[in-house]
Amino acid sequence: MAQAVDQSDRQQALSREIAARRDDLVALTQDLIRIPTLNPPGEFYRDICEYLARRLEKSGFAIELLRAIGTPGDSERHPRWNVIARREGGRSGPCVHFNSHIDVVETGAGWTFDPFAGTVADSRIYGRGACDMKGGLAASIIAAEAYVALWPDHPGAIEISGTADEETGGYGGVAWLAEQGYFSPERVQHVIIPEPLNKDRICLGHRGVMWAQISTHGRIAHGSMPFLGDCAVRHMGAVISEMENSLFPALAKKRTAMPVVPDGARQSTMNINSLHGGQTEPEAGFTGFPSACVPDRARMVIDRRYLIEEQADEVREEIVALLERVKAERPGFRYDFEELWQVSPTMTSVESPVVKAVERGIRSALSCEPVHVVSPGTYDQKHIDRIGRLKDCIAYGPGILDLAHQPDEYVGIDDMIDSAKVMAFAVDDLLHGRA
Ligand SMILES: [Zn+2]
Repeated sequence: MAQAVDQSDRQQALSREIAARRDDLVALTQDLIRIPTLNPPGEFYRDICEYLARRLEKSGFAIELLRAIGTPGDSERHPRWNVIARREGGRSGPCVHFNSHIDVVETGAGWTFDPFAGTVADSRIYGRGACDMKGGLAASIIAAEAYVALWPDHPGAIEISGTADEETGGYGGVAWLAEQGYFSPERVQHVIIPEPLNKDRICLGHRGVMWAQISTHGRIAHGSMPFLGDCAVRHMGAVISEMENSLFPALAKKRTAMPVVPDGARQSTMNINSLHGGQTEPEAGFTGFPSACVPDRARMVIDRRYLIEEQADEVREEIVALLERVKAERPGFRYDFEELWQVSPTMTSVESPVVKAVERGIRSALSCEPVHVVSPGTYDQKHIDRIGRLKDCIAYGPGILDLAHQPDEYVGIDDMIDSAKVMAFAVDDLLHGRA
């Protein structure tokens, strides 16, 4: 009982401390939005890392600025900078790490606000990256700063990282840092990624991905005598027809126990990412006509999302079996199948400490029941899990997932405050081993 009273006193102190930092939270989020870290190509990474370093140094964080030299996209013009800030409390204990990506996607059309002004209107902050995920990054910083202001001699360590390139696969960010050992279980024990999943939801992981390229082959001939050639596009048409008849219906039947949101993604899915056959697209401004040829090659890229109940081998064999069926029925059909990349599905156990701690934080701070979700697409948890071998990892943060990458993206100020409280409560539980 004494401990319960003590814990609720601590949570009240944290809530007050965070509420008092509301203006600071808004200003911090605006500052982050005003650094236009567009990716591609990966602009202003060094600027935002230095900004975060200057800020966190003041609260006793030790800073490392790390460039992922030689990773995809890294160049002298667009270096892949990352920042890791670590604060040791001076007593032994675990390390709780908040990881946010610093990059944002292109703005696109349709904005009514300046995407890099960080305008405040109706208790929201607008801008590219407001929700995905500079609002989450700012909330985690405020949570950590409030925590160390109250208890500078906390047990264990708190880390905050700002990492590059999540929007393009994370190879110059979390993947590279994990390879260097920054996400090894000996160094970090609990990870929260403040992606915009809504403040009452805990994201346990994501579905798997397999990208692959299917090519069909034919023979070139004059377009006036197509019977003398062999049309690779018609062969590809047969592949698509077989997908419509057998594969898409089969995928729709593969339902998962993973709590994927939205509901349409609670099954296997496949997107045809691109399709090309025949002559290459003419350059912009070319005014001539095509030449008369039978296409001898067609190429399709598929984006298959799979479930924790499926194995990568099965996913691969399902496509190859489809191609073999077409081959058996279709004279002259030749194909290549090439896997481009693959990410395994991941789902953290609901019994794991970080899930339990954030669940309790949501109940205490928001007085509601937490909801477990799984993301339809992957995010940096894949690298923390697979390269870092660190399993106690979730995504939890403010913002509405549907607004990510949209025009007039925003984050609610109250949502940031609420989720900062949840994060701070979870830190307190995890550092004291109460989870
Ligand atoms: Zn994101």
